[in-house]
Amino acid sequence: MSEKQDFLAQTLAYNHIPFPIIIFDQEGLVTWFNGHAERIFQLNTETAMGQPFSYMNPEQAAFHKQPWEMLLESTDPVRFENMEIGLGSGGQSYSTVVTKAFTSHGERFLLTIYEIDDQASAGSAARELSHLRHGLDDSFMMTYFDQEFLVTYANPHFLKLSKWTPKRVLGKPVWQMFHDSEEDLEFVDSILESLKDGQVWNGEAKKATKDGDTYWVDLTAIPMQLSEEDAYYIFLEKDITETKHAQKHLEEIAFIDPITGLENRHRLEQAVAEHIKEGRHFSFLFLDIDRFYTLRDVSDTDTENELLIEFTKRLRMYFSDSLITRAGLHEFALITPLPNWFIEGFLPYLQQHPIYIGGTAVPLTVSGAITKYPEDQQSFVHLIKASYATIKKVKERGGSAISTLTADDHERLNRKALIEKRLVHALDRKNLQLLYQPQVNLSTGSVESVEALVRWNDDEIGVVTPDELIPIAEENGMIHEIGSFVLETACAQLKDWKAKGINLRISINSSIREFRDKDMASMLIEQMKTNNCDPQSLMIEITEKFALEAEAERPIMQQMNRLNQQGVQFALDDFGTGYASFRYMLLLPISSLKIDRTIIQSITKQEKMQKMINGMIQFGKSLDFQVTAEGVETNEQLELLRAMECNSIQGYIISHPMNAQELEKWIK
Ligand code: C2E
Ligand code: MG
Ligand code: MG
Repeated sequence: MSEKQDFLAQTLAYNHIPFPIIIFDQEGLVTWFNGHAERIFQLNTETAMGQPFSYMNPEQAAFHKQPWEMLLESTDPVRFENMEIGLGSGGQSYSTVVTKAFTSHGERFLLTIYEIDDQASAGSAARELSHLRHGLDDSFMMTYFDQEFLVTYANPHFLKLSKWTPKRVLGKPVWQMFHDSEEDLEFVDSILESLKDGQVWNGEAKKATKDGDTYWVDLTAIPMQLSEEDAYYIFLEKDITETKHAQKHLEEIAFIDPITGLENRHRLEQAVAEHIKEGRHFSFLFLDIDRFYTLRDVSDTDTENELLIEFTKRLRMYFSDSLITRAGLHEFALITPLPNWFIEGFLPYLQQHPIYIGGTAVPLTVSGAITKYPEDQQSFVHLIKASYATIKKVKERGGSAISTLTADDHERLNRKALIEKRLVHALDRKNLQLLYQPQVNLSTGSVESVEALVRWNDDEIGVVTPDELIPIAEENGMIHEIGSFVLETACAQLKDWKAKGINLRISINSSIREFRDKDMASMLIEQMKTNNCDPQSLMIEITEKFALEAEAERPIMQQMNRLNQQGVQFALDDFGTGYASFRYMLLLPISSLKIDRTIIQSITKQEKMQKMINGMIQFGKSLDFQVTAEGVETNEQLELLRAMECNSIQGYIISHPMNAQELEKWIK
């Protein structure tokens, strides 16, 4: 500050005047301003000093017909009424400005006083707030609370929904607007804590009406800190009760089994995920009611439900502190901290508390699997898979037992999990290969067809045989990828061989899922067209299990028939290991039987087996099937089969499966 300004500041002591004051020099440049001017016009020493001021300068003065020189000369104060003044905060105001010229150290100065003050700008903020408040009042439930969280104001929207009257609600503590359970009160306290910290709280809140009924709001609670001691709080609320009810209803539908009232599989998955996230150890218990279908056959839906409800009651009694879910039609899954010995006690408990339906006790037993997290399996999917594997074993042994995973199971499941993981990430056509194994026609001695067998050579786990690969691929759907690889490769190979003058038929293996999930027939026909290959040169092998299921599924039968009409033939693979039903042999368009290698390999061991194999061959031929023996390894086996007039053989005695080039060489 210059000496002159210093003098002015001290002698004029204008800082006490509650209005903005600015002093200009003769040129109309700012030489001094007080604190009010600083605040209201947002001036600062660096940018304002020595500069003109927008609202009071020679041009402005002239505009108001008060030339600057006149102002400087005048000995009386001059008033400017209704000067439009822009406020630093962005608002506009009309103010009266009074000017008064004076001389100091021989120089003329002009003192200007602006009759707006902090109150005026506060007033505009208050106006703004009051507009805001009206807007909010119209569309929100609004309550004000004082420092002690007592109600000081409640708007009509709030009163209407909460059923309070203004007289009764004023002065009531905030807690009274909520339910008084411990949980609810803790919740309220958490809101108040953030308000006291000066933070806005927003979220869904459950509230209580004056009569104690529940309603839900989307709440925004705002702290209004006026000074350190002086604060009040505003609650803005929107009623969301209906949405909340709809949501709850949906959740119930999504999570609750309507018959037993137990939570369902979705909830189970969620609960397992929560446990895993929290790092909690637990036993995953999977229970499957034995022979449910036969139990069901004797009854109707009502008794079936009764059975399930009664069974649920027993589960609830016995496993009182566990999460019990209905995981399937007759499957239940529990998350429990209980030890194995206790869990296993559920079977005798069931016996001691039989379920009576129509006055008779239902002979109900369960097969169960206990899988431990994290010791046995580490994800929901793997807990489920391990459970199924264990239950399958229990069922094979007659059911009615609860079992844990054995060390063998562990290893198998871990490898399975590894293959599964790799399969999803690393199934790349370059890692797939098709090998061909020749079949020799015993009456001509020549190779007329080859069976295509897939190989997967994974970079990390090495060669995975189809016996391991196919079931997993069927389960996770990758079978489609594998299937189309096999199909395309086989068709392209047929085309290539045809060009080379090699006349071979290729048999490919297929899974039911390929027919079920996709229109396999169209795909195949399309593929054959693209490669210009003769449908007669393609054979599809299906397993007995496939045949059994296909028989019951019209769309699959239709696809098979359509392909057959085009000339594609079907062979029944692994004959003798499965369900050998005569019916599907007649219903499905099958033209060949392939007797499984496990059967062929016992041909030399027992006379009975010899007779049986002979019977199979004669039976097949009597139905006009071509009969092939698989897995022929020794001369002895070969000679016996020849004597039985088996049509053709396949096996290591002829050749191992080989790749196309090897096969071409082998044939020559
Ligand atoms: P499969 O169709 O019964 O195929 C015959 C299996 O027996 C082949 O095993 C073959 O290598 C093996 N084998 C052939 N001759 C002999 C022998 O003399 N002795 C012994 N011990 N074994 C012999 P591979 O290649 O491991 O295939 C196993 C099964 O996997 C196949 O049984 C077939 O059901 C399935 N599979 C193979 N490739 C595919 C495919 O591309 N798709 C589908 N869905 N399944 C396939
Ligand atoms: Mg086969
Ligand atoms: Mg086979």
